[in-house]
Parts: sequence; structure tokens; C-alpha cells
Amino acid sequence: MKNDAPMPPSLWAAVTKPPLLFPPLTGARSVDTVIVGAGLTGLTAALHLRRAGMECVVLEAVEPGWGASGRNNGQIIPTLSRVDPEAIIAAHRVAGERFVGLIRDSAQSLFDTIREERINAEAEQTGWVQPVHSPGRMKLAESRVAQWRKVGAKVALLSGVELAQKLGSAASGPGAWHGGWWASTGGHVNPLALSRGLARAVTERGGVIHAQTPALAYGRAGSRWVVTTTQGRVDARALIVATNAASDAFSPRLAPALAHEVVPVVSWQMATQPIPENLRQSVIPERNAVSDTRGELRFMRYDARHRLVTGGAIFNQRGAEQRLQPLVARRLVETFPQLATLPGGITFDYVWNGNVGMTRDYLPRVHMLGPDGYAWVGCNGRGVALAMSIGREFARGILGVPRNELALPFTEPEPIPFYDLAKRLAPLALLKARRADARELGG
Ligand SMILES: Cc1cc2nc3c(=O)[nH]c(=O)nc-3n(C[C@H](O)[C@H](O)[C@H](O)COP(=O)(O)OP(=O)(O)OC[C@H]3O[C@@H](n4cnc5c(N)ncnc54)[C@H](O)[C@@H]3O)c2cc1C
Repeated sequence: MKNDAPMPPSLWAAVTKPPLLFPPLTGARSVDTVIVGAGLTGLTAALHLRRAGMECVVLEAVEPGWGASGRNNGQIIPTLSRVDPEAIIAAHRVAGERFVGLIRDSAQSLFDTIREERINAEAEQTGWVQPVHSPGRMKLAESRVAQWRKVGAKVALLSGVELAQKLGSAASGPGAWHGGWWASTGGHVNPLALSRGLARAVTERGGVIHAQTPALAYGRAGSRWVVTTTQGRVDARALIVATNAASDAFSPRLAPALAHEVVPVVSWQMATQPIPENLRQSVIPERNAVSDTRGELRFMRYDARHRLVTGGAIFNQRGAEQRLQPLVARRLVETFPQLATLPGGITFDYVWNGNVGMTRDYLPRVHMLGPDGYAWVGCNGRGVALAMSIGREFARGILGVPRNELALPFTEPEPIPFYDLAKRLAPLALLKARRADARELGG
């Protein structure tokens, strides 16, 4: 069967083994659980349901990993973006405490799943480092380490000297970092290989995935959930809507309340030419995943072929691909001056992008849609490990674990007021972040 709408070009699409082919759904089916969306959330939920012998069908508009799961930076980060344990617990009390535990264990759980399912996802559990971009931000690093330590996370503070030694980064100048902290359970993966590997594991365990099958809408019919698709329908006892930031990408009728809880922000990803071994010995020699505290984030990690996979954001998307490349190359050299010796300078072999779903308070939104019906949105750019752990919890709920024992902070869907306006104004957040970064650095 032909795949009519394959992954858009990216590093991951170029280097990853082609996907299995999954037939579209035609006609009506009746199953125990129907899952809409074959990203890391939906596929991990399906995996855990199949491990427990539960029947499930996954409906995917394009192919497994087509959304954020197959195009992200692949950094495995056991924290949320900007919201720390105390704030999570203040917002969600006991459920918040359980959720903090889920986040703390999410990276380890991801690497364990990769090992258990023998997925070749180019996984490197080398730790995740968050450098701080201004001296004042060391307090933030100290607070993060204290809060995560208190709940049992494997984290450590890094002084300016320790950080520069660990990462091989500049000791002074505009790209220098001033210290930071790191979580040893983090690391990085090829996220498309992980998504396709999970899809294979689900299929091998008897799960059914229908690709090229956009779900149009879902609803209740008596005691059952019903999902209608372009050429068929599925009725089921349990439902997971795992469409996340792509909730309105294929059908505005599917889940407008979920879609309007997040504003999409375009994140550009870029992979350099392979970095030669002599430079790799001093540029992130331990091959950690790195993302700093800037509002206009600087991030990078190696892939299995020794490319630095990095990127950035830009206010005006017109010509963004061309305009961003020199900017991101300059920032890399600011932070790792050794890279200036690359013959011909830094070049980017692959440039691509994806939409990150941002909530106003940087907290994810997790919902029960009705009896045995689950959904979440709002990864705020920290969702690879999180999506897999949330998917596992959804499966546990469907398998009978009571709602108040799940490590999930349920809320009612709350669409952002004046959504279209909020979406139009979202790019301004980048300018605000850039100004705040400059202010902190005294610029
Ligand atoms: C560019 C980028 C970089 C990122 N970098 C990182 C990172 O380094 N580390 C990190 O932790 N997080 C990162 N993230 C976030 C992370 O990728 C996501 O949080 C995570 O992949 C979400 O997985 P998901 O399964 O919930 O959603 P998705 O992967 O988006 O899956 C949703 C799926 O639903 C399908 N779908 C949508 N509508 C329908 C429909 N009507 N019918 C059927 N199927 C439908 C889509 O095709 C898609 O496959 C990044 C995100 C982006 C976009």
C-alpha cells in the first residue's frame, strides 16, 4: 500500500527505517478501546493495553509519529518547562504530588520501555543539562535542584566552572553559561525511530493501527464511545484522544475545546554537518542533551551520526528557514568557540519545524472526557518523556485503576478566551522573551 502523505523532510525522516504500512479503516468496528492519534501518547497507551491483553485500535490521520512525536529535538527531559514541583503541587495538591512523581520517573521509564521492547531509537541516556544564561539565574537552578531532590530525583547543581568543563562551553562572552544543573536520567533519542518502534511493538503484540484515517468526531451512543472517520466508525467502551497540539489539524469538529486550550508555536529544528571527532572531544564530550534557561531557548544534542541537532524560533515565518540558519550558527559558535575551526563553518544539512502546544501557565491539561475517556494537551515543549508516561497512565485508568490513584492532575477543559486573537498574538511572546533575556544579561 502506498503512503500518500509521508513525514515531511527532516533529519529523522532521512535516517529512520521506513514505517510499517498500516491499512486505513474502512467500515465499522467494535472494540474495547479506541485511541485517536499515533504519537508517543497514543502508541504508549496502546502498548500498555496490549501488554495487559486488552483489545485496542489506534486511528492515525497520517502515519505513526507524524505529529510532534516524529519531528522534535528528541531531548528526554524529566521536568516540565518553567513549572517546578512546588508549583505543580500547589496547583493540583495530592494529584499534583503523584504527577510530580510521574515527571521525575518519566525519562527512566522511557529508556526502560525502549530496552524492554528492543526499539532501535538511537537512545543515549547521557543526562539532560540545563545551563543558566545569566548569573542571576543560578538561584533558579539552586531552587530546581532543591525541589527535585526533595522528591527523590537524581539531579545535581553545576557551578560555572563545572558546567563549562562538562559541556566544553565558553567561559566568557555572549554565549557563555554561568552554571546550571543536570538530571542524570535524561538523554536523547531519535524520536521518529522511537515512534515507529512503538508502532511496531503495538502491532507485534496484536494491537491494530489504522493510518491514513482521520477521525472526524467522537461522541457517546448509549454506554459506548463512537468515533467516526472518513470511511468508517469505531465504537468502544474506552476512548483516548491523543491528538495533543494537532487536535484541530485534520478535523475542526474533533475536539475544539482541547484544540483551543493551547496556542501553537513554531519551533525550528536544524541538524549540522557531522562534527569531526577532534571537536566532539571538547564540545559536549559526554553527549548530554542540553537546553538552557533563556526565554528564547538555546538547545542542542548529538544524533547517532554526530550531527548537532539544534534550532530556534523566529518572529516572522516568511523566509524563516534561511534567516534562522546564520543566527543559530552564530549562537553555536558563541557558546562553543571551538566550532569556528570547522572548515567552511557550520552548515545545516537538515532544517524542519513543528508546532509546540503552549498553555498560558506552562502546565499541561489532562482531562476525563466522560466514562473511561481520556485526553491531554499542552506539552509546552517538554513532552517526549511526559507523553509516554501520560499514555501509560491513561492505559492504567482504562485497565481499572481508580481515577484518584492515577498520577494525573485532571481538570475540566478550559479553552483560552478570544482564542483566534491569542493565536495571532502568540509570536509576540518570542519578542518578549528576547527582551527579557537581554535585560537579564544587562543588554
Ligand atoms: C519541533 C518540536 C520540538 C520538540 N522538542 C522536544 C524535546 O526535545 N523534548 C521534549 O520533551 N519535547 C519536545 N517537544 C514536544 C514533544 O514532541 C511532544 O510533547 C510529544 O511528541 C507529544 O506527543 P503526542 O503523542 O501527545 O502528540 P503528537 O505526537 O503530536 O501526536 C498526535 C497525533 O495525532 C494525529 N491526529 C491529529 N488529529 C487527528 C485526527 N483527527 N484523526 C486521527 N489522528 C489525528 C496526528 O497526526 C499525530 O500523529 C517538541 C515538539 C516540537 C513540535
